[in-house]
Amino acid sequence: MINDFKYFAPKTLKEAFTLLDQYRDDYKVIAGGQSLLIMMRQGLIQPGHLIDIKGISELHYIQSDTQKGLRIGALTSHRTIEKSPVIKKSFGVIAEMEKRLASIQTRNWGSIGGNLCHGDPAGDPAPVLIALNATLTIASIKGERNLLVEDFFLNYFETALEYGELLTEIQIPAIPPNTGTAYIKFNVIESDMATVGVAVSITLSSKVGNCEDVRIALANVAPKPMRAKKAEELLRGKKITDNLLIKAGEMASTEVNPISDIHASVEYRQELTKVLVKRIGTEALSRAKKP
Ligand SMILES: Cc1cc2nc3c(=O)[nH]c(=O)nc-3n(C[C@H](O)[C@H](O)[C@H](O)COP(=O)(O)OP(=O)(O)OC[C@H]3O[C@@H](n4cnc5c(N)ncnc54)[C@H](O)[C@@H]3O)c2cc1C
Repeated sequence: MINDFKYFAPKTLKEAFTLLDQYRDDYKVIAGGQSLLIMMRQGLIQPGHLIDIKGISELHYIQSDTQKGLRIGALTSHRTIEKSPVIKKSFGVIAEMEKRLASIQTRNWGSIGGNLCHGDPAGDPAPVLIALNATLTIASIKGERNLLVEDFFLNYFETALEYGELLTEIQIPAIPPNTGTAYIKFNVIESDMATVGVAVSITLSSKVGNCEDVRIALANVAPKPMRAKKAEELLRGKKITDNLLIKAGEMASTEVNPISDIHASVEYRQELTKVLVKRIGTEALSRAKKP
């Protein structure tokens, strides 16, 4: 059963920060409630004050600029992102990822910011945003700070957010030419969380077509979303072949640190990592080669 709490629904960021400061020892922020309410119903958290930020219109937006890239307000729903024409056109991998996240009902209510702040290592947006080298803006009554998405996650369901802070914006840099990015999520039940998720971004040099840059980001194979940096090193600077991608998958499977749970064993997640890095690396490469 959910505990009693005092409910507040600020309409501006300024009002929200004042409330967060006032109740700093005993509050929880709620956005779409898709994850928070489950935790409350299970009695895992029992906040005395619930600060509902969904009505803060300043945090609902998608803005794109060919030079600066994409900016997404933290309260933007998964469904809005999935349907955004500008995201479909210039950051298609984000729309593809959102389409496979949960059900339409959950995507309608859940926000991208809430998903990241929940800190579930199985979440879909984090690996894609890490592959795209995205940054977050975190704000409080004291001011703002920026953090790379890959530095935001500390441990299972633990992020770098401190009391009094809100995630306000996600920034994705413009995608360089000759870059292909792709995401694959393995799950047994459609619309469920990923058993393993893999995002790969590959940039080829325009002259010889060697791998100029590569980022491989993984979900649900460690206490937090992670990069397979040794696998990336195998590819960087080289002409990427099928054989090299197989080796990168094998290397990535040695870098992960998964748990066994009701969905998969440690060994199965390692095997999935190996197979999926190769499979989605091949797709990212083919996208990078497209004119
Ligand atoms: C049935 C179901 C299936 C799901 N399947 C998937 C899936 O396949 N893939 C996937 O990735 N996710 C999945 N989820 C999780 C869900 O998508 C996200 O966790 C959800 O989008 C969270 O967003 P929210 O706005 O509802 O956040 P809330 O539940 O309101 O908040 C989540 C957490 O973030 C904090 N928070 C929220 N916004 C902010 C902010 N701006 N600043 C600071 N803290 C904040 C809250 O205090 C809370 O701790 C599923 C959820 C359900 C219920």
